[in-house]
Amino acid sequence: MEIIKTDILVIGGGGAGMRAALAAREKGAEVLLVSKTPMGKSTCTYLSAGAFTLAVGGLSTEAHLALTLQTGKGVNVNELVEILVNETPERVRELEQFGLVGEWQKGRYRCLGRPTAAGAPLANILAETAMKQGVSSLPWVIVTELVTESGKIVGAVGFDFRKGKAIAFLSKAVILASGGGGALYLRHDNPVRATGDGYALAFHAGCPLRDMEFVQFIPVGLAEPGKPALLIAPPLADMGRITNSLGEDILKKYQITEKPVAVRSRDSFSLAIFKEEMEGREVFIDLRSLSEKDWLQNSLVRAQRDMLMKYLAGSVKPLRIYPMCHFFMGGVSTDQDGRTGVVGLYAAGETVGGLHGANRMGGNALSETQVFGYRAGKTAGAWVIEQDWAKGAHDLLNGRLNSFQKKWVPSAADLPPRLIRKKIGEILWREGGILREESGLSSALGALKRMKQEDLPRAKTESPKEILEKMEVENALLVAEMVLQSALMREESRGVHFRKDFPHPDDQKWKGNIFLRKRGEGMKLEFRPLPKIIS
Ligand SMILES: Cc1cc2nc3c(=O)[nH]c(=O)nc-3n(C[C@H](O)[C@H](O)[C@H](O)COP(=O)(O)OP(=O)(O)OC[C@H]3O[C@@H](n4cnc5c(N)ncnc54)[C@H](O)[C@@H]3O)c2cc1C
Repeated sequence: MEIIKTDILVIGGGGAGMRAALAAREKGAEVLLVSKTPMGKSTCTYLSAGAFTLAVGGLSTEAHLALTLQTGKGVNVNELVEILVNETPERVRELEQFGLVGEWQKGRYRCLGRPTAAGAPLANILAETAMKQGVSSLPWVIVTELVTESGKIVGAVGFDFRKGKAIAFLSKAVILASGGGGALYLRHDNPVRATGDGYALAFHAGCPLRDMEFVQFIPVGLAEPGKPALLIAPPLADMGRITNSLGEDILKKYQITEKPVAVRSRDSFSLAIFKEEMEGREVFIDLRSLSEKDWLQNSLVRAQRDMLMKYLAGSVKPLRIYPMCHFFMGGVSTDQDGRTGVVGLYAAGETVGGLHGANRMGGNALSETQVFGYRAGKTAGAWVIEQDWAKGAHDLLNGRLNSFQKKWVPSAADLPPRLIRKKIGEILWREGGILREESGLSSALGALKRMKQEDLPRAKTESPKEILEKMEVENALLVAEMVLQSALMREESRGVHFRKDFPHPDDQKWKGNIFLRKRGEGMKLEFRPLPKIIS
């Protein structure tokens, strides 16, 4: 059985993982980055629109701070927001030193790249720089367990799903940068493997998680029958007409005024479309009246013109739209340098919760990957240099590998795991998505419990791919429960969390955060109010 030794194991090859790996290398640590796909590829970072929000070109740090807190509806961790607004410009300038090319605008840096994957140059530059700096990488590996002893990390266990073999990693520190869980929802714009594994890994390792009820949806997802669900360039929502099948103007009907509507009004716009669909009316974007000048206004818009107007026939008919799950605000609770509470375990990027509060401002996620990836990597890199290897760690990891092999035996049971995942996606979409209420959340939790008892044991694991899918499904059931339980607890509406039965914010009772952690075989939730400011 293989045990690979490295000072630092980074889990995740997106923006946060690669930035953390680089910063740890700069401190002289030996770094191995493992991920489910090759470093940088098929990550949210790669698929992103490549836009950073930052205090440049006339946007002050004070304004960036205020907008972030306003979007987060007052339940962000202020200290993390302050760090973000102060440090993003330096981190982005560093990216340019690595070789990234982009446009500087007021409050924005936009990578120059292809329209539907404008983040590709960012992901590629980080991967190239990491390789040049001596970061080792191992793709096609899903990490399934963080191994700890006496509250301290000693490594991890994973599965190489191309070779079908288990691997253990012996390390002094682990940096968890495994992204979010957007792909758990039926409709989403995330890469397919964004299944929230990191939340489950941290939970089992004993870390507290926070804010898991806050899941962001993006309103303008293409929903043309038979065509891929892709993100329509957000500025087009302001330029075209958004109507329902009765011809009503949706923005007027729901009084959605804050522009750009697909960015600043993401939550109310998504909710409006969802309500229309629930009441049996489809929603469309009509781009037929756009002028030549409109199409040339913005590089993202320009780049989508042929696809929307020619390939999808947007020049002769309105195009159907429907929201898509986009981003998880919640995640592992950390300090400003990514420390998690388990000694030697750090986390960064979308896996972490707290920065964004109840809703995320557009462009702050990529900034988060660079600022907090760098901080976690630098801190872990400096820390491991002073650490000795844990005694008895080899035996412990061998024991975990043995347990792994007993658990993950090939089985010809009758249920393909991808069908279980689809069912979870449907449940989350219907009951734990844009519009929630007590009855739906409770019945969804009941359905998950039954799936755990009845469907999971029937999951087929004949091939390594099916083993991978079953591993993801196990995590998905747990992460879905975190979202639903937290959403059920918060009896108010705030940010992206809309409760039909509690349609207004309630600062008296709910201005604060929901934390959760493992208790025995279950999870324990706790609401912590923010300290009241007495003026
Ligand atoms: C379509 C789209 C457009 C976006 N546009 C923007 C934008 O313009 N600006 C902005 O600020 N934000 C944007 N976002 C959000 C932003 O892209 C993400 O929040 C950010 O890139 C997350 O980076 P990350 O490094 O945390 O995770 P990711 O980039 O998603 O990387 C996660 C990595 O973890 C690996 N992994 C996961 N689980 C495991 C496991 N168990 N074992 C091993 N490896 C694992 C994956 O393989 C992957 O390599 C967008 C998101 C999407 C989906």
